Amino acid sequence: MKLITHATVVTFGDNHRVINDGAIAYDEDKIHAIGTTEELKARFPKAKAKNLNGKLVTPGIVNTHMHLYSTFSRGISLKDAPPENFTQILERLWWRLDKALTKEDLYLTAMIPLMEGVRNGVTTLIDHHASPNYIKGSLSILKDAYRKCGVRGSLCYEISDRDGQEKCNEGFEENAAFIKSLKSDEHDMAAMIGLHASMTLSEESLKRASDLSKELKTGVHIHVAEDQADNVDAINRGYRSVVDRLHKFNLTGPENIFVHCVNCDEHDISTLALTNTNVVHNPRSNMNNAVGCAKLEKMMAEKISVSFGTDGMSASPLVDLWTANILHKHQARDPRKAYGEIWKMFTVNGPKLASKMFKKKIGTIEEGAAPDLVIWDYIPPTPVTADNTLGHLTFGLPFARVNSTICQGKTIMEDGKLTFLGEGEEEEMMAKSRELAAALWERF
Ligand SMILES: [Zn+2]
Repeated sequence: MKLITHATVVTFGDNHRVINDGAIAYDEDKIHAIGTTEELKARFPKAKAKNLNGKLVTPGIVNTHMHLYSTFSRGISLKDAPPENFTQILERLWWRLDKALTKEDLYLTAMIPLMEGVRNGVTTLIDHHASPNYIKGSLSILKDAYRKCGVRGSLCYEISDRDGQEKCNEGFEENAAFIKSLKSDEHDMAAMIGLHASMTLSEESLKRASDLSKELKTGVHIHVAEDQADNVDAINRGYRSVVDRLHKFNLTGPENIFVHCVNCDEHDISTLALTNTNVVHNPRSNMNNAVGCAKLEKMMAEKISVSFGTDGMSASPLVDLWTANILHKHQARDPRKAYGEIWKMFTVNGPKLASKMFKKKIGTIEEGAAPDLVIWDYIPPTPVTADNTLGHLTFGLPFARVNSTICQGKTIMEDGKLTFLGEGEEEEMMAKSRELAAALWERF
């Protein structure tokens, strides 16, 4: 049994509380107890205790939408004129980048943001992968990177018709093979069926995805109405909207993740609410692509489970919480907006989605929950209470350094040092990454 003591324990979850001079007893299976330092020292006298001297401890952070493969885009120069709209961003950047990825690139493109995530306290990361010229076996390479870092992961391959029937078939096969390869006792790894977006999927492909989802009892992870172009495409095919089209193919529902939903109207939002479909909000990505501002308040008033993703902008959804806080106030010209929504998304909805996916209580510090913890180099300058934690989460933690990250009871970062790396290994990886990225930029 391991024990951390003299911590400011911030639990998150439905019964959020703050324990000053708190302690947590855990092993690699679960959190066994939480309480004051005095209580837990008396209960576990033989446990090895680590004194945190008042540092803040939160649950491990959950990122519900990411593209690890975007790593080599940092600093890339486009070969055409700057994109004027979202479709051109896809055509001139992302669909060129993913086609240029080779087998050799995949491990490092995953390792680097996973390490960045660990440095920011991320212990669960749901990814959406595309590499059309290396599809078969791609998810296993990503899995190796997750295993190396000791982070929980949910993987899927992005099926699309945009590169022809053969690549589309391969996408289906990779998802199915990876889903079938996971064993029931692999609590650190999950899988979904990845779909790019309605606008690059034919009627046949959506039907096939729906059948596969039913057959394998696995949800789909798809971009939805990110830009109005997605709706225009659905309307041209005879549907009311993207959500209407996906709903008619039985692709809505509590097992599925609809990413963005920026351009969803009230009718779409009630369909998402009635079907308990999960939505992921990625404010930095939406602002960067200039696609609009999701109707967050409306979606959450309808009790849709909305959580935070980073969509390739970085590995840390805490920065998206920070962004959402100011974006929705700015958008509504009302300083009262966003507080309630961002708190629930970050501390309740993201953890609940992960808990369902990994069949284990994730993202909350309580007895029986997964032993995923973040120790922050953040000694609060003002009192922390259950009622004011959001103030620290919004204005303090995004600028604080993570001291240590614990996932599945293992310390994967200690005092700022990634424990899964050997001496000089990171420098070697970064040098190799720069070399591979430069070669990819040539092919791009
Ligand atoms: Zn995305």
